Amino acid sequence: MPYVGRFAPTPSGPLHLGSLVAALGSWLDARAAGGRWLLRIEDIDPPRCPPQAAATIQRQLEVFGLTWDGEVCFQHQRDDAYQAALDHLATTARVYPCGCSRKEWQHLGHYPGWCREGPRHPERPQAWRLRTDIGPNPVIWQDRLFGTQRLDPTTQGDVVVKRKDGLWAYQLAVVVDDAAQGITDVVRGYDLLDNTPWQRQLQQALDYPEPRYLHLPLIRGDDGQKLSKQNLAPPLPLDDATVRPLLHRALTLLDQRPPAALHQAPVATQLAWAVDAWSPLALTPRAYRDLT
Ligand code: GLU
Repeated sequence: MPYVGRFAPTPSGPLHLGSLVAALGSWLDARAAGGRWLLRIEDIDPPRCPPQAAATIQRQLEVFGLTWDGEVCFQHQRDDAYQAALDHLATTARVYPCGCSRKEWQHLGHYPGWCREGPRHPERPQAWRLRTDIGPNPVIWQDRLFGTQRLDPTTQGDVVVKRKDGLWAYQLAVVVDDAAQGITDVVRGYDLLDNTPWQRQLQQALDYPEPRYLHLPLIRGDDGQKLSKQNLAPPLPLDDATVRPLLHRALTLLDQRPPAALHQAPVATQLAWAVDAWSPLALTPRAYRDLT
């Protein structure tokens, strides 16, 4: 089986230890399978993406030895592909325009689909939403770590695929690009596991193949929160002396038990060991992995 994996960061800031663990898990899974590994910069929301962040991310991946194949894909250049997908979804009545404001429905927990039969507020700017009620419901799929998953996306609401302000939404862009890049294996953080049902519905509505999924436990800091830019996880270092032990730590956080002797070893040596030893099932299926 050919294998094509990817890392798809949103360049809202530099990578941190949590994103390194996700990138490393995805890279190891691809390399251990003899596969390709692609880099996609998910910069569909320019106000959230400082201009230097994409370049910093690429530099950080390089110093950790996580090299990618081919050209980098930038989502800000993919408008035409997203528009074609939206047109198809609109023609087949899988999406509908909606001008409701969050204030109007947030007491319900999720958007209940009021505009499915026609816009309630045609005079307002319109977002486009996915009709989750058309199914399949529930969505059933296999996660390689967490096993059989069964989730009904109507309980999470009709997700936005194009925003009122005209920007593309993550759910549509990720599905279009995974298909365009021929991604066979999605390896990413556990925080996206519950986004998978929307993505599976979109893939089916667009006649795209189903990738395999492996969600990885999130790294939780001492404050009990997942490491993230929002809670100020420090950016990954670029100097080799700091990079080496941090790579060793990331392998440990992926439960790969790297030998202590590799702690200060060059990045290439550690990665060669890790590709050989890679075993995703060494991970415990849990949402969070505490920092050690
Ligand atoms: N861009 C998303 C993020 O940074 C990840 C997308 C994905 O892996 O599906 O959280």
